[in-house]
Amino acid sequence: MTSPSVPGAQRWPSPTLGHFFLFLVSCLIFFVGYIPQLYVFPSLDLPRSTYLRLNISILLVWLTFILAAASDPGTAPKDWKPNPKEVEDETAVRYCMKCEAFKPPRAHHCRTCGVCVMRMDHHCPWINNCVGYRNHAHFIRFLLYTLSATIQVFVLLFRRGWELWYEFYYSDVDATELVLLMLTMLTALVLIICLAILGIYQLWCVSEGTTTIESWSLERLQSHVRRGRLREEDAIFPYDLGFIENLRDIFGGGVVGAWWVFGRNGRGTGTRWEVNEFAVPGRGWPPPDPDIVRANPHLSPKPWTHGVPPTEDLDAFRERQRESQNFYSDYPHEDESWDEEGSEGSRDPGDGWVNDEGETLEDYGIDVGSEIVGFGAKDERGVELRKRVNGI
Ligand SMILES: [Zn+2]
Ligand SMILES: [Zn+2]
Repeated sequence: MTSPSVPGAQRWPSPTLGHFFLFLVSCLIFFVGYIPQLYVFPSLDLPRSTYLRLNISILLVWLTFILAAASDPGTAPKDWKPNPKEVEDETAVRYCMKCEAFKPPRAHHCRTCGVCVMRMDHHCPWINNCVGYRNHAHFIRFLLYTLSATIQVFVLLFRRGWELWYEFYYSDVDATELVLLMLTMLTALVLIICLAILGIYQLWCVSEGTTTIESWSLERLQSHVRRGRLREEDAIFPYDLGFIENLRDIFGGGVVGAWWVFGRNGRGTGTRWEVNEFAVPGRGWPPPDPDIVRANPHLSPKPWTHGVPPTEDLDAFRERQRESQNFYSDYPHEDESWDEEGSEGSRDPGDGWVNDEGETLEDYGIDVGSEIVGFGAKDERGVELRKRVNGI
């Protein structure tokens, strides 16, 4: 992606390193996709249909890779501003100091791309691009097509390896073939493990309606709930619309069309998001957690007093969310890193908590310190932001 230069934006990975990652991924696709076809598979005497199927899969990998890497991930429009009629409280107003613009719900400022990205999932160095509203589907298709092609290659390599195992003792085996067989097989195996883990995690997030970043935030809120710092109803995720609707949010149209390489990415405009019946419309998410409220005393504590509309299905919804969170809760949480007094010397309250994998929000590429939630302190900036929202 070509990144507009924003003053103060930290550039990591550097443009050179980002291009190196793209080159590395291209080399990997070439190495695993074509080297076995040139040096190993000829010994297998495969039918043409096998080659055709494999090469169509590899073509899909190239196409989705290019689409994921070269698409605009969904740069937030600079002139977007919250509609005062739809703002329930200050938590729905988020402002990016780097872009000097209001942030649509679910947008985050990427410190590498230097822009706010709508429904940002994470910044991915492997595609040297953010994964966001406009390319999330391309990214998931890229993962799954690559997994499919790599499995096909691995199965054929395994077949040849099995043959060689028996031939080895009574015939001359070509050393080049043997070395390339072992190297490509090992690379393919590592790729399959990594892609399967990442692919399953992505699909799990998609089915829950969350991005990777929101999944982190939800985990953090659940941690507050466990510690009695937050009521359970305040941790409810508002954008979980149910399995099928969540898929549509990422892949646009029908479920079958979702896998078409040039299929749609998301629906709507990327600035407005439908919320479920348990959400309080016009209220921001995530709610300011106690750490952030402590660090930003100007924030209204109002969201903490909100109730949730009484609905018969609420218990069922909570149960579903609890089950998904059990995925985390099954792990021991004693290691949960939470500095009760806030991180000493940390420049942002978000730095004080890491999830079970030891990740902070910054690990997803977000520029955490660039955000103001609410109108900020009651100084000139706060007055100015208030004026802009109200269009005075
Ligand atoms: Zn920004
Ligand atoms: Zn980015």
